[in-house]
Amino acid sequence: MRIDGKTQLVGVIGWPVEHSLSPAMHNAAFEARGLNWCYVPLPVAPGQEEAAIRGLAALGFRGVNITVPHKQSVLRVLDTIAPEAAAIGAVNTILITREPDGRPLLHGYNTDAQGFVGALRREGFEPRGKQVVVVGAGGAARAVVRGLLEAGAGRITVLNRTLERARRLTSELQDSRLEARELTPELLVRVASEAELLVNTTTVGMWPHVQASIWPVAVPVPSHLTVFDLVYNPLETLLLRQAQECGARTIDGLGMLVEQGALAFEIWTGQPAPTAVMRAACEQWLHRA
Ligand code: NAP
Repeated sequence: MRIDGKTQLVGVIGWPVEHSLSPAMHNAAFEARGLNWCYVPLPVAPGQEEAAIRGLAALGFRGVNITVPHKQSVLRVLDTIAPEAAAIGAVNTILITREPDGRPLLHGYNTDAQGFVGALRREGFEPRGKQVVVVGAGGAARAVVRGLLEAGAGRITVLNRTLERARRLTSELQDSRLEARELTPELLVRVASEAELLVNTTTVGMWPHVQASIWPVAVPVPSHLTVFDLVYNPLETLLLRQAQECGARTIDGLGMLVEQGALAFEIWTGQPAPTAVMRAACEQWLHRA
């Protein structure tokens, strides 16, 4: 990678960010497109995000990704918010443009919802009219549910350990297709048996707790189900292994990561993203980690 006076800068702010795959994924994409751009990880402590973003704008950055824990708090520094990001209540991508007098403008987007649906369709699953179970009610769940609603899914049951959080999600997204329930193994098995798609948006199964799964050990996963796990570290979670062993179709979290990153790449550069290169860079990073 060449860094010179014309290099355009983007990056990711979060706390922590040292385990982020995004620098490897985006720098591989810039190289593949022959763009003199560079993507850097930027650790920003809670409370410092507003100063950091204004500083990046003053430094001439073209944009920045936002990750945990800043996705909601950055909303207040933005000049414009895309309807998708406003509906989800969180931003994962900021584009920085300039007024003729040089004043920076900050535009917020959320590419997670479209990234999720894009990954689903790329695997051949069309959500329109389908009955879905979403486990979890955090930031990722909000994007997944919003994406499913936009894509015309049928009934969506949101199961969460903390019922209150699931209720908040469904009442804020306001749609008669949504219902919130408390996550119990019995209820999960029951609603999944009637659904066509099960999506894990919780952190359960994520490294280092790789022996954990939302699905009870002794119960077979219905073979008619498609099981999508947003966790991408590891790529093959215990949940996906349980599903595969029962003959169910599985989708890992990498497709969504690449799709949401590709959308951010396109927002910043205006060019189509080289998604195969981006996926290969992530796989290489995960096998090295
Ligand atoms: P978050 O806002 O912190 O939400 C975490 C969720 O996990 C909550 O619903 C929480 O339930 C639930 N949870 C945590 N521990 C649990 C346990 N032991 N049993 C049952 N539920 C549990 O996190 P997030 O930002 O939504 O991210 C969630 C996951 O999605 C992470 O693994 C992240 O890496 C992944 N993700 C992947 C992509 C992708 O592109 N593939 C994109 C975004 C996120 P409570 O409400 O009860 O605490």
